Amino acid sequence: MGHIKSRHLLYHSLANMIAQGVGISASFAGLNLISTPMRLALLAWHRESEFSADRAALIASGNPYHVASMLAMLGGISNRPISESTSLLEGIANVFMSHPILKERVNAVFRFSNSEEYSSIVRKSNYRRMLSNAFTPICQFCGSPKAIEAIFCPECRKSQA
Ligand SMILES: [Zn+2]
Repeated sequence: MGHIKSRHLLYHSLANMIAQGVGISASFAGLNLISTPMRLALLAWHRESEFSADRAALIASGNPYHVASMLAMLGGISNRPISESTSLLEGIANVFMSHPILKERVNAVFRFSNSEEYSSIVRKSNYRRMLSNAFTPICQFCGSPKAIEAIFCPECRKSQA
């Protein structure tokens, strides 16, 4: 979902085609559409886009262990969720020992989860959610109809902000 929301899919498809050698056969057909430096840049971008999608997964789930679990399951490392206790027992780095690229991605997710940038995103997201709850035509507590701009419910009198 992070890839879709970040509009990665077109370039992802191109990078996958290059990685699978489609570009080479296309150049044999006289369709050398993408130069070598562009191919290398695209492959580098492809790698970085995985880190962006992992960050999106953290923002959506709010829990770095959920992202680690997703990567472990998609990578075929584990079919059980990774929790804080898994991490304490085995060490998260040991879980991903056999998959250095996934290990690097998981480490990046945990670093990002402790960053000021992530805290700021969570604060903004919570604020936006609070505003969207407040600016609806229905009271978020009793469900009574209310004016969109009304801060207090006319029925139960609770503050909507
Ligand atoms: Zn109400």
